Amino acid sequence: VKINELLQEKMSFSFEVFPPKEDKPIEPLVEIIRKLSVFKPDFISCTYGAGGTNKGRSLEVCEAIVKSQNEAMTHFTCIGNTEQEIVDELSQYTAMGIENILALRGDLPAGWSGTKGDFAYANQLIRFIKEKFPQACIAAACYPEMHIEESNFETDLAYLKIKQESGAQVLMTQLCHDVEAYKRFLGMLEKAKINLPVILGLMPVLSKESILKMTLVTGCSVPRDLSALIGKYGDNPEDFKKAGKEYTVNQILRYISAGIDGLHIYVLNKYDDVADILEIANIR
Ligand code: FAD
Repeated sequence: VKINELLQEKMSFSFEVFPPKEDKPIEPLVEIIRKLSVFKPDFISCTYGAGGTNKGRSLEVCEAIVKSQNEAMTHFTCIGNTEQEIVDELSQYTAMGIENILALRGDLPAGWSGTKGDFAYANQLIRFIKEKFPQACIAAACYPEMHIEESNFETDLAYLKIKQESGAQVLMTQLCHDVEAYKRFLGMLEKAKINLPVILGLMPVLSKESILKMTLVTGCSVPRDLSALIGKYGDNPEDFKKAGKEYTVNQILRYISAGIDGLHIYVLNKYDDVADILEIANIR
C-alpha cells in the first residue's frame, strides 16, 4: 500500500524503529516488530544510518517488517551515496515490495560540511527517486519549528515547497512537543501552498536524558508543561517515566484534536513502554 493513497481514505497510524548496531543481533527487534503488529499499524518505518554506517541493517529490518505482514517504509539519505549506489540500493528495497521511501538529506556526521555524495539536499534526491522509481510513494521531512540549520521560516518553507514540487507526496514531521507551534506551522503550510498530507512524528517521553538530547539535536522547544515535568520528576527515572507516559497520552489526544493526517510513533525500540501508552490512549 502506498501511504499517500492510504491517507486519502483515513488517518494513518504507524511506528518507527531503528536498526540495531552492526555487532548486535537483530532477533530482539524482530520480536518487537512482531508484537507491534497487534496494534495493526498502517506501516512501520525503519531509520537509515547516516554516513554509510548500518546501511545493510536497514534493509534487514525492512525485510523483517515485510515478513511480519506489515507495510514497510524505508528512510533513505543522500549521505555518501552516488546516483548509482542510490539506484542499486533502492532497487533492493523495491524488489522486496517496499513502495514507501522517506527521502532525506540525512544527518551530517560530525566534522562533515556536506553529504560527500552526488546530492547535497533532499529535494535533489526526491527528484531523482521520482525519475528512477516512478511507482514509489515519496515522503519528505518537515520541521514545525524549522530546521535547526535554518534561521528563517520563509526560507525553510521555500525549500519545503521545492520538495513538494520535486515529487514528495507526504510530509513527516520532526518531533515537536509544542502543539501550538504545530498548529501555527499548519497555517504557514497553507499560506505557502504546501498542501501535502502531514504525518506527525511523536516521541514518547520516557527518560529525561533522551528528551533533552533529542531537543538539543533538533532544536525543538520544550513547552512549560514538559519543563515542569522534567523539573518535578527529572531526578527519579521511574517517576519520570510514569508521568512521561501520561504526558505522552495527552500529547496524542491534543495532536489528534489539532488535526493531523497521521500519527507516527517513535518506538525507540522500547515495546513495553509504547504498548502501555497505546493501551492508556486506547489506540486500536
Ligand atoms: P533538506 O531538506 O535537504 O534540508 C537540509 C537543510 O538545508 C535545511 O536547513 C534546509 O533548509 C536547507 N536546504 C534544503 N534545500 C536546500 C537548497 N536547495 N539549497 C540550500 N539549502 C537548502 N536522518 C538520518 O540520517 N536517518 C534517518 O533515518 C532520518 N529520519 C528522519 C525522519 C524524519 C521524519 C525527520 C524529520 C528527520 C529524519 N532524519 C534522519 C534527520 C534528517 O536527515 C535531518 O533533519 C537533516 O538535517 C535534514 O534532512 P532533510 O531531508 O530535511 O534535508
